Amino acid sequence: EHFLRRIESLDHRLNSLITVTGEQALETARAADAARARGEAGPLTGVPIVHKDIFCTEGVRTSCASRMLDNFISPYDAGVVERFKAVGCPVLGKTNMDEFAMGSSNETSDYGPVNNPWDTQRVPGGSSGGSAAAVAARLAPGATGTDTGGSIRQPAALTGITGLKPTYGRVSRWGMIAFASSLDQGGPMARTAEDCGLMLNVMAGFDERDSTSLERPAEDFNARLNTTLKGLKIGLPREFFGEGMDPGVARVIDEAIDFYKKLGADFVEVALPHSGLSVPVYYVVAPAECSSNLARFDGVRYGYRCEDPKDLMDLYMRSRGEGFGPEVQRRIMVGTYALSAGYFDAYYLKAQKIRRLIADDFRQAFGQVDVILAPTTPTTAFRLGEKTADPVTMYLSDIYTIAVNLAGLPAMSLPAGFSEGLPVGMQLIGNYFDEARLLGVAHQYQ
Ligand code: GLN
Repeated sequence: EHFLRRIESLDHRLNSLITVTGEQALETARAADAARARGEAGPLTGVPIVHKDIFCTEGVRTSCASRMLDNFISPYDAGVVERFKAVGCPVLGKTNMDEFAMGSSNETSDYGPVNNPWDTQRVPGGSSGGSAAAVAARLAPGATGTDTGGSIRQPAALTGITGLKPTYGRVSRWGMIAFASSLDQGGPMARTAEDCGLMLNVMAGFDERDSTSLERPAEDFNARLNTTLKGLKIGLPREFFGEGMDPGVARVIDEAIDFYKKLGADFVEVALPHSGLSVPVYYVVAPAECSSNLARFDGVRYGYRCEDPKDLMDLYMRSRGEGFGPEVQRRIMVGTYALSAGYFDAYYLKAQKIRRLIADDFRQAFGQVDVILAPTTPTTAFRLGEKTADPVTMYLSDIYTIAVNLAGLPAMSLPAGFSEGLPVGMQLIGNYFDEARLLGVAHQYQ
């Protein structure tokens, strides 16, 4: 009731939720109270959350913030949604996002942009901008997000919350509407590392319905929260500390480095020589996969259908032309081009080869260090409309986050401090399956 009241009184200023499911949440909360009274409650039983509107929710609209799916009521729950249901988490609603998760500012949503709670003239980041704003404004204690190129970490950084992108394959992609399947990964967004760990304990696990799901023994991701950092080797990637970083961000990150030195961590410079290629590689691979994944939205099976089509071709063309927004259309065009005969080798194949080199850079670095520390974003939250005219400028706001997705590594963003009244995010990148270590390093800062 507390959170529903906050949503009611504050969300008209933020626009963080596309759908509110208050009745359903209250019903689950009552069932959770009963479970607690019987002594059957887990740590998150009765703790309300919100889901990014990319996760299918049975009987509830799942729009992906697109006109294409505005009328889509999912007939089933995503794997992640099932898992939160099973432990009795009430779902307050579905969060706003960039259309089909394509964006870095939450301005491509068909439901309008989300405002950053720290300054409503500024963006919350994207694509999980609604989830980030909802947690930052305390409309919900936790939210799900997805991260294809930074969409959990970048909005977490710009709104002063904590968000974790797990190792690729940890969290089921079943029922999570696909953008770029080899990069997409769901993860938790919450106030603290500890809360993210509790959520990840629920979210992670094998799902046979996702062919890239990893079969790993269950683990408690909060098991290492208080492990000493004495002797921990932290790498600073030379390439991430160059030009383009805002001086206010650099100052806050330097202070964080000093803090960890005091706790006994050792800092080493590491090289990620191919990381400068990650943005161009991503903008071949991600659109290529998106052009294939979004072929299913044809106006025939589900979703938006144009009025009075003349024939089948007209139905396809107008349904897609009217149902998808400009950024989604741009990605489909770029991806279709990169995959077309004659260009495949020059673009897609080349990008895949560089992707391997980027992953190899990290492998080398993790031969020397335990974790890598970097800023999450080059600047704090920018103004609404500031980057919408130039897609390339917008794409560069993910310059520090994208390499991690290309390599499939786990990484998180946590609040590091403030610059001119706006939150600055610090990024911690770990080796494969090292989420528990990352959460411990983050927890000791918090
Ligand atoms: N901003 C990046 C993009 O527009 C990443 C988005 C994401 O991680 N979903 O593709």
